[in-house]
Amino acid sequence: MKSKGQIGVTTENIFPVIKQFLYSDHEIFLRELVANAVDATQKMKALASSGEFKGELGDLKVSVELDEKKKTLKVIDNGIGMTAEEVDKYINQIAFSSAGEFLEKYKDQNIIGHFGLGFYSAFMVAKKVTIESLSWKEGSEAVLWSCEGDPEFEMGPAKKTDRGTVITLFLDDDSAKDYGTKGKISQLLGKYCKFMPVPIVFGKEQEWKDKKYVDTDKDHVINGIEPLWTRKPSELKEEDYVKFYKDLYPMKEEPLFYIHLNVDYPFNLTGILYFPKIKERMAIEKNNIQLYCNQMFVTDHVENIVPDFLTLLHGVIDSPDIPLNVSRSYLQADENVKKISTYITKKVADRLEEIFKNERSAWESKWDNLKLFIEYGMLSDEKFCERALKFALLKNTDGKFFSLEDYRKAIEDTQKDKDKKVVYLYATDVDAQYPFIEAAKNKGYDVLLMDCELDAHFVNLLEQKIDNTRFARVDSDSADNLIPKEEKVKPELAEEDKKALESMFKAVLPKENEYYVEADNLGEDAAPILITRNEFMRRYREMSALGGGMNFYGEMPESFNITANLQNPLMAKIVEGMKENKEKVEEYAAGSEMLKQVTDLALLANGMLKGKALADFIARSGRVMTDAYLK
Ligand code: ADP
Repeated sequence: MKSKGQIGVTTENIFPVIKQFLYSDHEIFLRELVANAVDATQKMKALASSGEFKGELGDLKVSVELDEKKKTLKVIDNGIGMTAEEVDKYINQIAFSSAGEFLEKYKDQNIIGHFGLGFYSAFMVAKKVTIESLSWKEGSEAVLWSCEGDPEFEMGPAKKTDRGTVITLFLDDDSAKDYGTKGKISQLLGKYCKFMPVPIVFGKEQEWKDKKYVDTDKDHVINGIEPLWTRKPSELKEEDYVKFYKDLYPMKEEPLFYIHLNVDYPFNLTGILYFPKIKERMAIEKNNIQLYCNQMFVTDHVENIVPDFLTLLHGVIDSPDIPLNVSRSYLQADENVKKISTYITKKVADRLEEIFKNERSAWESKWDNLKLFIEYGMLSDEKFCERALKFALLKNTDGKFFSLEDYRKAIEDTQKDKDKKVVYLYATDVDAQYPFIEAAKNKGYDVLLMDCELDAHFVNLLEQKIDNTRFARVDSDSADNLIPKEEKVKPELAEEDKKALESMFKAVLPKENEYYVEADNLGEDAAPILITRNEFMRRYREMSALGGGMNFYGEMPESFNITANLQNPLMAKIVEGMKENKEKVEEYAAGSEMLKQVTDLALLANGMLKGKALADFIARSGRVMTDAYLK
């Protein structure tokens, strides 16, 4: 007997609301329908294993069939099915029992499934939906339910003779364009259903025959990859994890490390996270972690579930305890989500520390690719920073690695300044700062390599975290403030000579910068002139450039310290001449080939000699050599 009825809806016509507001993403209708079919199949398995069902289970699977011409899409399962009473209860009544209230509350938000409205999401794309179902219960009669997108439905007997449910969607014209192709359905199944626990079949496997692809009679199963995270870590080998990564990200290089997450109290969460190779910030891709709920894909936007720096990781998190049905701002405040976030950070730190302790050489060899990730984590997450201080590495310009603790021990006796602070020397560019690195090494100092984009910030962080510490770039003024081996005595210059020295250098140095000129005794063999940068000004400039802002420091001229080494014979001679020409020192400077030559050499050592100045220097050097060798 056929019956007509009204779906129990409190809102007058719910369907336009479903279409427009319920899900911002219409495509998830397919996930919802396949998930229901999978549930029904799983329940069938459970009935069989508990002995309640004694008949033939058959080949349990879910099939998706598309008829491009008729614009119909079917989701077919051989699960438990539904009796007419059950359709009435689960589809007609339950689904909309609280729909009015629910829609009122959430209509502006991105809502993801699991509100008992999953099935009705079909109406986002279909003008008509039918359910044909035969329950597993003995003596059941098949039922046909159909509804054309208004609150009225029809229900009556169906011809179906095998157990299970067929949901048929008659796609509306717009949706048929969007979803009515095999390619699109394949893509959606691949995205949402690739790890569902029951085989999902879409079409047939193909083979190459008579110069074209033809269907074979073998089902094409779209979820052939095993969801590795559901297995016990103890059963798995390194290769299994690597293979799974390649299945997930076929285009990517092998990961550095992985972490298998597995917790069931106080919340339920499993997953595998991978550390990708990261070399530069430009190459960072976020949104590579996929969030699942019982193997059903939910989203790849996990920003509010894992701390920001962990969004650089790749992999899978599966948790039925992450509320999927609420807005993002709510998610951040959720207690479970906070716990999950803390748990994941802790697990990541545990694993990194374990590798640091047990596989030190692997840790060192992968450090260059991990560094950006760890520094970013330390800079952005206080808790992670405290942990990472134990396993972060420093690399020196000879390519040697040290833990923070070991490095401290290695330099604390030799690299102290007069305030008893330990000075960490570093270079940001080995080629450009080569002369300074060599000079520092010759004095017995060690020089770190800090050439990563975040290092400017990282250096500041380490200064705060390690007591009594100062970082100085190897070409900076403060690098030179290390306590010298023998106490050096500064030369004494009269006030007017100091002024003359300054004017003399300013006459021959590039005009765009600022200079602080001083005289010092650096030894006979040391260069006549040493140019260093002001450490703090340079750092501010770099940090503001990193921040991208055109601010105060970014616009300031660069400032350099010019140290004239009076113990160097050439410099001594130049200064002698300067003293004699105090009244017209600029003229003296302009006429002194020797002054220009030594100044240019110092500029060259700093990579500051360019363009015409460089050409002038080369020409002058030619003349100097002619004089020296040929006359
Ligand atoms: P939910 O899946 O969140 O419970 P739905 O609206 O998607 O909400 O489905 C409502 C109910 O209808 C399900 O809980 C289930 O009892 C029943 N149902 C839906 N699809 C099927 C199916 N393919 N086979 C058996 N029962 C189904």
